[in-house]
Amino acid sequence: MKPCMTCFRLRGCNAYIIKQHRTILVDTGSVGDGKRLLRRLDQRGLLQDLSLVLATHGHADHTGGLAVIRREGADPIKIAAHHAAAPFVEAGRNAPCRPATILGHLARPFIVLMPRSPQASVDVVLRGEADLLPYGVEGTIAPTPGHTLGCVSIVLPTGEAIVGDLLMTAFGRGTAPRLPLFAEDVGQWRQSIAGLLDRGVRTFHAGHGGPFSASQVRRLLEHVQSRPIAPGGSVAESDG
Ligand SMILES: [Zn+2]
Ligand SMILES: [Zn+2]
Repeated sequence: MKPCMTCFRLRGCNAYIIKQHRTILVDTGSVGDGKRLLRRLDQRGLLQDLSLVLATHGHADHTGGLAVIRREGADPIKIAAHHAAAPFVEAGRNAPCRPATILGHLARPFIVLMPRSPQASVDVVLRGEADLLPYGVEGTIAPTPGHTLGCVSIVLPTGEAIVGDLLMTAFGRGTAPRLPLFAEDVGQWRQSIAGLLDRGVRTFHAGHGGPFSASQVRRLLEHVQSRPIAPGGSVAESDG
């Protein structure tokens, strides 16, 4: 049996469960989404089987449900995050939102209006690649900085990857992947995307919209690579 993935489209973001020998939950949406996720996991009989809850990065639209899942889920539930994301997850603060596109500049003032995540302690602090087999799933957690410096992706042997906000559609609409609205480091974003393509990822599952094919992602990467990065870190808005 290969790892099997299911996407839950929440108010805040897409969350994913990966089920194989045990079950891993990736991202938990905004505040309020945690209870919704708990119900869905319970209905499927997966709540007792959760071996890990992974935050792809430290933004409140992905970490809002961590605390409630820790509090009300089966005991003990381990929470994992990259070491550059862990301080933000633990403090219930957002990692920096540095606009990468014109839309990002327009959206930036509204970030402060988003509800903050409740604080959630991180049990598994990731400092490099990590094998998911100890958590009952064949696959790898790979650091993929760019959107934030603490972003990670999950790469599965099925040719699928969950990449958080490394890729997204514009405000969750349309079908083409775009550069995220915010990118702490566009150069690292390019390297992370190229690295995932080099690993042979064929399907990219994103935090907002998607999934995207490797050929769509390759086209976006070529487009972004053809654009100069402005001193502020922005690039011209992608046509997708
Ligand atoms: Zn984000
Ligand atoms: Zn997001």
